[in-house]
Amino acid sequence: MYPLSPPAVYIHEGVMSNDLYRSRAEGVVSALETPVEPVVYRDADVPDLVRNGIYDNRKPMGSLAEVRDPILLFDTFRFDGKEQERMDWTGEQLRDAGTNAGLSLVGGGAFNWACYNLKDDPSRNDKVCRPCWRIHMQQGCVHRCHYCGLGGLLVSMVNIEEYCVQLGRLMVRHPWQYTYLLDDDADPPCLEPELGCLGPLIEYFGTLENRYVIIHTKTWNTEWMRYLQHNGNTIIVWSISGDSQSRALEAKTGTTQERIEAARIAEEAGYQIRYKFKPIIPVKTWREDASEAVRLLFEKTNPDVISLCMFMWMDVDEMKSRLGANLLDPTFLQAAEDSRDEVEDTRAKPFPHWVRAQVYSHYLAEIRKWNSEVPVSLSTENFRMWAEFTDQLGMKPTNYVCGCGPQSTPGAKLLQDHAFKVAVRNDAGLIPGVYG
Ligand code: SF4
Repeated sequence: MYPLSPPAVYIHEGVMSNDLYRSRAEGVVSALETPVEPVVYRDADVPDLVRNGIYDNRKPMGSLAEVRDPILLFDTFRFDGKEQERMDWTGEQLRDAGTNAGLSLVGGGAFNWACYNLKDDPSRNDKVCRPCWRIHMQQGCVHRCHYCGLGGLLVSMVNIEEYCVQLGRLMVRHPWQYTYLLDDDADPPCLEPELGCLGPLIEYFGTLENRYVIIHTKTWNTEWMRYLQHNGNTIIVWSISGDSQSRALEAKTGTTQERIEAARIAEEAGYQIRYKFKPIIPVKTWREDASEAVRLLFEKTNPDVISLCMFMWMDVDEMKSRLGANLLDPTFLQAAEDSRDEVEDTRAKPFPHWVRAQVYSHYLAEIRKWNSEVPVSLSTENFRMWAEFTDQLGMKPTNYVCGCGPQSTPGAKLLQDHAFKVAVRNDAGLIPGVYG
């Protein structure tokens, strides 16, 4: 696992009372760089944990004067349908503190219905993504990306065996969903293999027919995965960036070279690997960095799909507070400054359409120098951008394959079914409160 020195470690009493779960938490604790005496807590202690600042550093890390390793907390999903009850009680206790406890602190949040592009999605006419179930084991991260707000606290749920039973029930109800993205709010390999949760999940999927777990990561840490019985049912997607971005703005991730080496090891061990250039931050050397990263990844590995996504989801002021202005291409930064009105109606802000299109064109040209066939898609872009790139990509919003789409099985070139029409939620009657 990563070398870590967390300021504190908390272990729920439900973890301590089970030998296997306790051994997982203790495996991580015993591998810490700086020894920490864990604190055992109960549900009744959660309001005090929150009041005493357990979430205080859950802020965009680029906006903090100092970023430390996160607090580690080990808990279990309860699967008892009482998460909301516990949330309500905790919220009541915290009313005067003006703050809330996260679902993960009360044993909830195992599965999440992402309603993207369906009628309940307020951004359905703007952002193009995929409706599906997403699955969670952790929340928080050790990687310290400047633009991210998931530092400060890393919650790990350790009852993976119970989790797989519930996940199996969900999969039976959703035959249209072939792949399951794990932890879009964490980077699961970082505490492994000491934590011992990701291996059992990978091997569980290895027992299934045509069902895949997708691990989305910026890690260098894959050597331990070599001998797992994954049976080709684990897809590992690297968020990849150019060298300057990875070194300056993604402090504790693998560098570009380290991520590609980790992908090479995974590919050698039989895992399907993919890349997303996400988020693409236009630092001053972005063109050269992009060319070099593309060269390197094709020299060492064979992804079955590559996706592209510009830095987005905030206005220009928020971007500057997270990234600073000094590293950015001054022309593109000025374009973002000048385009506040133009980008007002899209979540793809702060960079205007022409900047994002220019960046995607560069990446696409570089990729095609090395590989004329690998599918290249846009990730979470808007419909206007898709309209511009549909012909070049040979795919459209409803049928493209991508890094973590629910029908993007290994080697797929194009979806057979309409991605928005095929996705029908069907969890009624499963454990209430678990499937949020
Ligand atoms: S790797 Fe992902 S989750 Fe981790 S800090 Fe970076 S952006 Fe956040």
